[in-house]
Amino acid sequence: MTHIPPTEEKVFMTSAKWRQERPHILVVACSDGRYQEALDEFLLNHLGIEDYDRLYAPGGPGALVSSAISHFRGVQFQDEAKFLLDAHGLERVILIVHGPVEGSRPSEARCADYLRKMPGNSVGEMRLRQAEDLSRVATLMKSHKPTVSLQIFAAEVREDRRVQFVPVPVLSDYTFPLWGSADFFSGLDR
Ligand SMILES: [Zn+2]
Repeated sequence: MTHIPPTEEKVFMTSAKWRQERPHILVVACSDGRYQEALDEFLLNHLGIEDYDRLYAPGGPGALVSSAISHFRGVQFQDEAKFLLDAHGLERVILIVHGPVEGSRPSEARCADYLRKMPGNSVGEMRLRQAEDLSRVATLMKSHKPTVSLQIFAAEVREDRRVQFVPVPVLSDYTFPLWGSADFFSGLDR
């Protein structure tokens, strides 16, 4: 018989209650705790969403793409995402990658998952890889559930440590070299 040892920890009772209704929104983002407060602020204050399912894993959307590190990791996370799309009745998916603003510090804001997948590569090369991964994940989501709406953002850490959430265009064919191009950024307040 299993013995549960006594604990000094007290029971904590929340004021927030379990919601019976599912939010039907999924946020796919990196586990990195350094930008979570900024992410929460963006989701609540800019997108206006308070309740959402979370698929937080190292690399965020990049976790859904197989790499030289592991083929099976990508496949496994793809299966989990498909499960959530179906089982949780998701109607809207928000994909978020993160890193530093290109060409500036702080370089430590680079995503650790992309650092391990492509060590020695520049911030620009990582951004390109993230854009390719986003394209693949967007295609995956749409092919599995064509009615789902997609929003894609890059969380970019500036030199003053504030985080700017840059919308990444979703093109009709779900391929986009646009994010990171001079044309795309020309109209943005940097
Ligand atoms: Zn990360």
